[in-house]
Amino acid sequence: MTEPSLGASFESPDTPAVQLRGVRVHNLKNIQLNLPLHQLVTICGISGSGKTSLAFDTLYAEGQRRYLETLSPAARQFIHQLPKPDADQITGIPPTIALKQNAGRRASTSKSREPTVGIESGIQSYLRLLFTSLGQVLCPNCQIPVTPQSPESVLAFIKTLPESTRFQICFPLVPGSVNSTEKLLKELIQQGMTRAIIDQQTCKLDDPDTQLPDAGPCLIVLDRLSTGKMDDQRILESVELAFEESAGSAVLLTADPPASQTPGTLFPVDQTDWHRFDFFNSLICSQCQQSFLTPEPQLFNFFSQTGTCPVCQGTGSDPQMGERVCPACQGSRLNPTALAVRIQDVNIHELGQQPIQDIDSWLGALDAGPAFSSLIREISERLTTLEALGISYLTLNRRRSTLSSGELQRIALTAVLSSNLVNTLYVLDEPSSGLHSADRQRVISVLRQLRDLNNSLVIVEHDAEFICAADHIIELGPGAGKAGGELVFQGTFSELQQAAGSPTSQFLKASHSSEFQPLSGKPASRSISLSGCTHNNLQDLSVIFPLGQLCVVTGISGSGKSSLVEQTLFPSLVEELTADPASKPDTCYESLTGADQIDEVVLLDQALTGQTPRSIPATYLNLFDEIRSIFAQTADARLRNLTAKDFSFNSKNGGRCPECKGTGFIEIDLQFLADLTMVCQSCHGQRYQRELLEIKYRKLNIAEVLEMTVDEAFPFFRGQAALQKKLKQLKDVGLGYIPLGQPLPSLSGGECQRLKLAAYLTTSSRKRTLFLMNEPSRGLHPLDIQYLLNCFEYLLTAGHSLILIEHNLQLIQVADHLIDLGPGAGDQGGQIVVTGTPAEVAENSASLTGAALRQLVSGNESES
Ligand SMILES: [Zn+2]
Ligand SMILES: [Zn+2]
Ligand SMILES: [Zn+2]
Repeated sequence: MTEPSLGASFESPDTPAVQLRGVRVHNLKNIQLNLPLHQLVTICGISGSGKTSLAFDTLYAEGQRRYLETLSPAARQFIHQLPKPDADQITGIPPTIALKQNAGRRASTSKSREPTVGIESGIQSYLRLLFTSLGQVLCPNCQIPVTPQSPESVLAFIKTLPESTRFQICFPLVPGSVNSTEKLLKELIQQGMTRAIIDQQTCKLDDPDTQLPDAGPCLIVLDRLSTGKMDDQRILESVELAFEESAGSAVLLTADPPASQTPGTLFPVDQTDWHRFDFFNSLICSQCQQSFLTPEPQLFNFFSQTGTCPVCQGTGSDPQMGERVCPACQGSRLNPTALAVRIQDVNIHELGQQPIQDIDSWLGALDAGPAFSSLIREISERLTTLEALGISYLTLNRRRSTLSSGELQRIALTAVLSSNLVNTLYVLDEPSSGLHSADRQRVISVLRQLRDLNNSLVIVEHDAEFICAADHIIELGPGAGKAGGELVFQGTFSELQQAAGSPTSQFLKASHSSEFQPLSGKPASRSISLSGCTHNNLQDLSVIFPLGQLCVVTGISGSGKSSLVEQTLFPSLVEELTADPASKPDTCYESLTGADQIDEVVLLDQALTGQTPRSIPATYLNLFDEIRSIFAQTADARLRNLTAKDFSFNSKNGGRCPECKGTGFIEIDLQFLADLTMVCQSCHGQRYQRELLEIKYRKLNIAEVLEMTVDEAFPFFRGQAALQKKLKQLKDVGLGYIPLGQPLPSLSGGECQRLKLAAYLTTSSRKRTLFLMNEPSRGLHPLDIQYLLNCFEYLLTAGHSLILIEHNLQLIQVADHLIDLGPGAGDQGGQIVVTGTPAEVAENSASLTGAALRQLVSGNESES
């Protein structure tokens, strides 16, 4: 093992640190490491060097395990516990929280369960409390406030009547009671009541002619008084009695209306017009008598039965996906009672439709009193963090699936920062991803804020700005897979710049060409143009995409890149090329020309669908078929009559381990416990029956071959041209460090995307294909990006076209054509700032991408 260069700053024995000894997780080679606490630590290294193994599979797994040990067994059973990392000793580790890219993005959520910005940032639950406490129900039919009345509030109303006004306190007789009208009449008389108003006439109850109606209105009069001679106590008692007798309603008849309020409804009694006012001691509108539920936090939650819209069950329907908006809730996902609750004229849905930056001033204008100051502070702090992170252009109602990965990551950071946890270790995966360089410094300063609250941060990063911002840097390497897993460097940024033998320091020092060199360098022969795009924030955009070139769409997050490329260009081309009316997108563009210039369009996203736990890179590219037939052709296999099929672990009748069905592990489904994954005891994770494992090719059995990385397998299969060709495609997309048998579900989003790309490289189709990719650089070390560029060059030479969404300047710099969106995010974005070559964009003073390119070039010039 090479001796790592250790920075002088780390020699103090007083620095509190996590002590890791003998760590052998995955490819880590017995690592000894002191990881300083209360610092911003960046782990870097080329792809496959072991960064994730150290950050997530060691630090996070151990931190989480220790924390779970402090919980009761009852609580523990609901949490998925990670396997104990393979290490001699780990001490001093605090409770650990991981923020992993794509973690929730790839999980499928049903429409009705889809969370929003408000929910993910933690703001929504506080808003629900606020609306419960301060909300006022406004009847949607009558536009009047609905408040539960008390005898005191009725008395207060009576006091607004003019001097010497006669009034009667009554209650409505509830029709259809179980008793016969004769029996009811007797009871009323027994209770001491004397008058009723029936058919606009006052009747004495003890008059033998009086008959209560079987149905229809009837008021029982409790008291007749005048404001000239007020007896407060008597009024209170009468109103109280009215509420009791009528299950919650009291009727006030006044001879004259109050001066300042509504005149009530005219109600003739004995040929005189009285003014009638209805009071309810529950939430019932006094005019239309619609009743409302008493606000509680769950009323404002569309995931709860109390709050959800009964028509669409909380899906609201998504107009952006071409679905019809629910007519009952207008897409708000809430029921009418929840929507009737308002604070200062807005309900919780309308508030969530406003950009976050506007909510702060709304909150500031609230006159809520000191009892609510801490609640308002919780909301306000989170809003401030969202603003500091540059995503206050979002609305709280925006759904998770419509957000970019950069936006999602920053929302997750907001929730974490506001949790006010201290002495916690946060492990983050590539916080730079999805971020324009203009936004990176914002995220860095929030991470520092989190550190200053006495927390520790470990981030896995390739981005130079994040490496530079770290208090402490750990580099793993020097190579990938078996050639990696060692500690190459540990220390500060300035120490890194001096370090010998560090690939990252080499990259940081490498002088790039100060000129822009376009990848294809050829003029675009053909193009696709799209006009009148209005999806999301796109402002009637018309764009020309050149073909046969590397075209990159840039702009800060929220500027509309995904809306344009993934959500408009892709579906419109699919529709045009397949002429499938079912895939017709909502009319969010006016016209599309040039679709006939391509034969197919492929969106390479970061998800792999239709894969089983048995899927591995070798099966994905079909190269496993060739490996199986190589094994079947060995003399031993032929002697035992074994065919290629026997070496399949998908086939039931083959030679796979019957215990684990060829996965190598067993998932134990314990009723209340999270699924427990164990290595199969029968085959010890080797996936095959013993007989098959005895067959060797070049001294290795099939299980050993599956453990090889792509880089190792390439020379091993010398002479096997077809197989080597496929292995080379994997090497070409920068996946050489991946073992042939690594289960696909364990690959990162970036790795999935590159695996898909590799699959396309092996097809010898002569079709003119347009590839669309969102951030293919994600998860790649700068030194690995060259692989990707070679691959792009190959595709362009073969006559295909590429349109990328990218933030990575290394890729933007070599584009043939840039389309820069902006200038800002949300409503401030959705326009074209500038298009042209990188050199042309760099000259544009309004473009943030241009500014970053200028800085890149000038920085390189000053170095050389
Ligand atoms: Zn009403
Ligand atoms: Zn609905
Ligand atoms: Zn097995």
